[in-house]
Amino acid sequence: MLEIKNLSAAYGQHPSLNDVAIKVGTGEIVVILGANGAGKSTLLRAISGICEGKVTGDITLNGDSLNGLSPDAIVKKGVALVPEGRGIFGDLTVKENLLLGAYSARARESERENLERVLEQFPKLRERQKQIARTMSGGEQQMVAIGRAMMSAPEILMLDEPSLGLSPLLCKELFHNLTEVKDLGIGVLLVEQNAKQSLAIADRGYLLENTRITHENSAVKLANDPAVQKAYLGAGSKVSTQKVSTSNGEGLKPAAPPPVINTVPIPRRSAEDHIGGSIDDLVAVAAKTSAKSVAKPAANTTAAAKRLANTKIEVVLKDIEAAALAARKRRPASVSPSRARVATGSTPAPTHPEGPPPVIEVYKRPRVEVYRRRPSGQFERD
Ligand code: ATP
Repeated sequence: MLEIKNLSAAYGQHPSLNDVAIKVGTGEIVVILGANGAGKSTLLRAISGICEGKVTGDITLNGDSLNGLSPDAIVKKGVALVPEGRGIFGDLTVKENLLLGAYSARARESERENLERVLEQFPKLRERQKQIARTMSGGEQQMVAIGRAMMSAPEILMLDEPSLGLSPLLCKELFHNLTEVKDLGIGVLLVEQNAKQSLAIADRGYLLENTRITHENSAVKLANDPAVQKAYLGAGSKVSTQKVSTSNGEGLKPAAPPPVINTVPIPRRSAEDHIGGSIDDLVAVAAKTSAKSVAKPAANTTAAAKRLANTKIEVVLKDIEAAALAARKRRPASVSPSRARVATGSTPAPTHPEGPPPVIEVYKRPRVEVYRRRPSGQFERD
């Protein structure tokens, strides 16, 4: 069993862990949930001996202290880490990556059996042993990273956000793989943002909030805790706790919940909101462009493609014009301030809440009157 007591860590003056206490038994999956910056990665790095900050507290594996040991000594003792971002060697083959995981003397003794066990667990890695690691998909690279950690024959396997960047299908596969790791009797300490899926496979969980452990419970109880649901699962979302038998025959396992669909009403928008301007302006532009386009005979353009494009544009412009005209008819006249109105001397101007409408002078066609001059010198209308 991995046991952590009074673990604190700080980067300079900045505390990242305060008095943390957790336990991970062999053959159990323990998940650490927490917001960004809560200290989750720092916890795993402190246990692995690779934390850049100052670490104090007690870390023991089966009663043996791991305090102050070098990272490789901690791996030799039986605690392996799959870091965030996987940390595989991209230019090496899958097999070379796996073999690097067995660098410790203890692991080297049983390198062949360990490799066989890993390849059995991840059949895809057996098929791809000679493939250059960086050419594999994200999910496959994650398998390489887990497989490499497994090559050290760990008692405790720690994973920092292994589902990051994986598709839902690959996540499902990854979490299934972790239940198989657990079935081998290995303790799994999992830091995850994917609370729903990690709680669904975990036995127990802790909430790490603002550098401190604030909650500890069985995964089933955490999944059903309203506070956890609100903070990590999304309000109204639940992890189903129906009975599902696992490969090692252990009891209650939460199953994947049905999706929750929230419908949000779409706000009503006016035609002018959609076109982003005044309908009158749009009608004017559309009519002008359409007229121009129609005026140009197709013969002016030599290429058939150009003619076809012009025809299509005309059709679209006509459609726009028709739609805009129809929208204008449906809309009350006072909506568009840019709409000009004719001032008739006799009709009183209508009142408008947005101010008086603009006035356009209407010029009448000049009447030509012809007069004839009489011999008397007087003019008379012809
Ligand atoms: P995330 O989910 O975003 O990865 P986290 O819970 O894993 O967050 P940590 O990476 O452990 O959080 O970081 C905890 C705090 O410690 C953060 O405020 C972070 O800025 C700080 N921190 C982490 N590593 C260092 C470092 N090497 N030097 C200085 N500060 C650090």
